[in-house]
Amino acid sequence: MASISLKKLNKTYGALKVVHDIDLEIADKEFIVLVGPSGCGKSTTLRMIAGLEEISGGELIIGSDLMNDVPSKDRDIAMVFQNYALYPHMTVYRNMAFGLELRKAPRDVIERQVEEAAKILDISHLLNRKPKALSGGQRQRVALGRAMVRNPAVFLLDEPLSNLDAKLRGTMRAEITKLHKRLDATFIYVTHDQVEAMTMADRIVVMKDGHIQQVDTPQNLYDRPVNMFVAGFIGAPQ
Ligand code: ADP
Ligand code: MG
Repeated sequence: MASISLKKLNKTYGALKVVHDIDLEIADKEFIVLVGPSGCGKSTTLRMIAGLEEISGGELIIGSDLMNDVPSKDRDIAMVFQNYALYPHMTVYRNMAFGLELRKAPRDVIERQVEEAAKILDISHLLNRKPKALSGGQRQRVALGRAMVRNPAVFLLDEPLSNLDAKLRGTMRAEITKLHKRLDATFIYVTHDQVEAMTMADRIVVMKDGHIQQVDTPQNLYDRPVNMFVAGFIGAPQ
């Protein structure tokens, strides 16, 4: 079970508080989208959930376990970044296999997992290439594949499509939605693209200056924003 509870979650850098007492209950297999202006604390929140950033205060609970001090590698979570963060010297296959190799998974399991993920993402023909020989969309598929092979209960995606052109963003948006349905994992997806938020989310979390403004379904946010900020953000032209 990968329900996720954030209870008064905080992040401070020295005297600077960048995430303030965030309370959020995410259901198992939900697709949550975090939106808000640049610098409002979206990435920091994801990184705390991933264990890439120390939690300054409050609690992170996944399932029924307190995760605050669990090392990143022991969390059943995979993260996908905006800049793909692929290993440039490795083939696509090894990029995808690497995480399983580190965990000492048997070779036949690794092969099966990589091949299965590659098939789903339509990158089977690219497995022997290096990242530099791929298009932006293909690289992002590899980054997704690398996250998938471990079969994590939670996917964290930080603006995964923002380096792609508008047409490809549309395609990948649909692909990620499909992937979510197929994988049965909990997704937390950060974007500043309101079309992505409105079309992909079960619920949207609107953040501003490290505070949550509103958590609601796309329809409710659109119909009943709690304040001008939310209304402005959701209604803003692209
Ligand atoms: P977002 O992803 O919403 O654009 P971030 O979570 O990256 O925002 O950043 C939130 C705030 O925390 C910003 O003001 C940013 O400058 C600050 N911040 C992020 N990382 C650090 C750091 N390592 N040290 C100091 N401040 C940081
Ligand atoms: Mg960010």
